[in-house]
Amino acid sequence: MESFNYNIFFNEAISQIKEDLTKQGKQNELCFFMIKYVDSKELKVIAAVPSTFVRDRMISSGYTSQIEIKLKEISGYNIKIELTIDNNMNSYSTPINDVEVKNESQIIEKNEIKVEQKKHSQLNEKYTFDNFVKGDNNSFAYNASLAVAKNPGKAYNPVLIYGGVGLGKTHLMESIGNMIFKEKESNVIYVTAENFTNEFVQSIGPNINKFKNKYRSADVLLLDDIHFLMGKKETQEELFNTFEALYNSNKQLVFTCDRPVTELKDMNERLVSRFGRGLSVDLQAPQYETRVAILQKKIENEKIKIPVEVIELIAKNVCSNVRDLEAALTKVKAFAELMEQEITLENARHLLRDSFSDPKQGNITIEVIQKVIAEKYGISLSDLKGKKRNKNIVIPRQFAMFIARELTEHSTTEIGSEFGGRDHTTVLHSCQKVEEQLNTDPTVHTTLEMLKRAIKDYKK
Ligand code: ADP
Ligand code: MG
Repeated sequence: MESFNYNIFFNEAISQIKEDLTKQGKQNELCFFMIKYVDSKELKVIAAVPSTFVRDRMISSGYTSQIEIKLKEISGYNIKIELTIDNNMNSYSTPINDVEVKNESQIIEKNEIKVEQKKHSQLNEKYTFDNFVKGDNNSFAYNASLAVAKNPGKAYNPVLIYGGVGLGKTHLMESIGNMIFKEKESNVIYVTAENFTNEFVQSIGPNINKFKNKYRSADVLLLDDIHFLMGKKETQEELFNTFEALYNSNKQLVFTCDRPVTELKDMNERLVSRFGRGLSVDLQAPQYETRVAILQKKIENEKIKIPVEVIELIAKNVCSNVRDLEAALTKVKAFAELMEQEITLENARHLLRDSFSDPKQGNITIEVIQKVIAEKYGISLSDLKGKKRNKNIVIPRQFAMFIARELTEHSTTEIGSEFGGRDHTTVLHSCQKVEEQLNTDPTVHTTLEMLKRAIKDYKK
């Protein structure tokens, strides 16, 4: 523990939490986030806040426990926080000296007021088209989004961006918002479906007109993660009315969703038909080359040097989505910064061994994959695993092997043996067949995504 630099860990934790708050659109909270490192003992950091008010708020808002969780993530140790009051801390000066905090126009730094740039309170200014790496998996969605940003309300309306978690839906949506906001005098509203719902529920009663007016005065409405609205009947109804009002006055609407709208359940049909009325574009997981390009883009402006082979190691092993890719990179960077060590292939491999095995999918077994797919295609498990060569069995069997390879850690040999004792070349051949279909038949991707979702949701 002697080599621990608690101060650096602490500042890193604070800066990550602040960034999270900004991402969640809670910039206002940053004003209350006044805390500074004072001292440390064995597994304890003593931190000062300017008043009992701030101390109570830190505790009641759960920030102290958030800091402890972050400290654990960063250092691997359970480090406790103890708060003390320092009346000399000026509430209006920067709470933390050395940490750069982005997207924060409200805070006054070193007693100088920052030059106020035009800043949108809900949009993360990091999310721009320039920062988005275009690849085969996303170029259609990228081009459509750019067209909308250049010509809001005219190019395509509404636009629906859909795809799995961490593939860049929010990034593209906010890029549209940022571009329009910067270049035009437009009222751009970004809101997650979750916040939209909460706000609606809280407004029911005397404030309902305020709510309606707010959303109906938008020139551009960006509603993120509409799948959250499933089963929320009244919010759907309200959104439908908002949709009609905006659409009929040629205001731009953009939505994101984790699945194609046809797969939304418990959703008002009229609303679903509106979502699908304009242009729907999907985001897929990036291919290897795009993954490398994304990682390179993310380290472009970094001081830390990350060897090419480490970038390739990450790109090879993290295939699921961009968020996981970023998380792996952050881990490597944090290690280099905090431990003041050079990053080598060796220590990157060691550091990332857990991320590579993708624990989130650890509960998916070949058996579950087989069950779900057999059921979806209405065939028996024994046929799925057996030797029959009818087309209605061969296709689901190939899909099942392909998905088993993607979602589990099993080798092709192990997968083969679970499919009636086939050898690994048969499994490879099946996977190749599916890849060929993916290149020629656009519906195959959607089908596979639907199956994977059903598998991940199985008995959750
Ligand atoms: P989603 O909303 O689909 O879950 P996000 O938009 O939040 O995903 O993306 C997750 C992270 O990955 C973000 O930090 C985003 O900047 C990054 N990201 C996703 N796609 C790309 C891309 N093509 N280029 C650069 N960064 C990307
Ligand atoms: Mg998102």
